[in-house]
Amino acid sequence: QSKNLGGNCCSFFDPQIQAKLEERIWLERELEKALEEQQLELHYQLQVGTNNQPLGVEALLRWKHPEKGYISPGQFIPLAEESGLILPIGHWVLATACKQLKQWEEHPETRDLSLAVNISAKQFHKNDLVSQIKTLLDTYRINPHLLKLELTESALLEQMETTILKMLELKQIGITFSMDDFGTGYSSLQYLKRLPLDQLKIDQSFIKDLPKDREGAAIVETIIAMGHALQLEVIAEGVETTEQQDFLISMECRAFQGFLFSRPQPGEGLTAQLTAGVTKTHPSKTLNNL
Ligand code: C2E
Ligand code: MG
Ligand code: MG
Ligand code: MG
Repeated sequence: QSKNLGGNCCSFFDPQIQAKLEERIWLERELEKALEEQQLELHYQLQVGTNNQPLGVEALLRWKHPEKGYISPGQFIPLAEESGLILPIGHWVLATACKQLKQWEEHPETRDLSLAVNISAKQFHKNDLVSQIKTLLDTYRINPHLLKLELTESALLEQMETTILKMLELKQIGITFSMDDFGTGYSSLQYLKRLPLDQLKIDQSFIKDLPKDREGAAIVETIIAMGHALQLEVIAEGVETTEQQDFLISMECRAFQGFLFSRPQPGEGLTAQLTAGVTKTHPSKTLNNL
């Protein structure tokens, strides 16, 4: 205890908070090395239609730490955002996704799949995002219509006017947009009307307790109806049971993502699964349970 009085600026904290802070600082230093030491991986999760036919894929970042094993993006993305590391990391994600799209062009089973990439607010609002994406599309010569950017409500609502202009510029190239985690942010319907979106992604928290959860069901039904009224595709994420999927189908939802169909997995695994002609897949075992 006595050292707490010794002028160390941080040690008046609760030891638990102090330990957390130290862990964070450590993690941030480790994250700085992650890119150059090739500890980052991009995994891919399938999105399917009402007959479980493959429609697209979402790219999900994984950090394989040499000592700690897989660290979930929920833990390190916020850190990457605060430190600015999200910019080089985000670029790596986009480049890796483009390379994967190029590879998927080679197989008839995978060449029409869209690939959705999560973009953080900071990355989206950076000046060079459009030129970065143009360069990647040119370099890998991929069909821009297959690249979808997932943004959250909070990212889209920051600086509305410039956001819309940037989205329009990217849409002109052929890029599409999905609003991720829909229903958890603050979008007003006015904003929803103005944003040039292609897809709404219903947040998994609303799907979790379907069909039992009456309030959840009402919200989901409303989101689907509103999405369709606005000519948007609607996809449900976090679908884990056939009951959930059946309920969503009865509400006219036509696209699904979740452990029921496939876990996020490395590109080779998903390619093998898809080119083996499997349409109805079972949740596959992967290295990690993220
Ligand atoms: P998100 O974009 O909403 O991704 C969906 C999350 O739900 C993923 O978690 C996915 O693994 C998980 N998930 C998928 N199906 C199911 C299911 O059936 N049940 C349950 N319980 N969960 C399911 P993950 O991979 O841990 O990613 C968490 C978040 O981290 C993502 O949420 C996204 O916001 C962020 N993230 C992931 N990769 C990137 C990236 O490359 N860039 C940025 N900026 N953010 C990323
Ligand atoms: Mg997402
Ligand atoms: Mg989401
Ligand atoms: Mg999320």
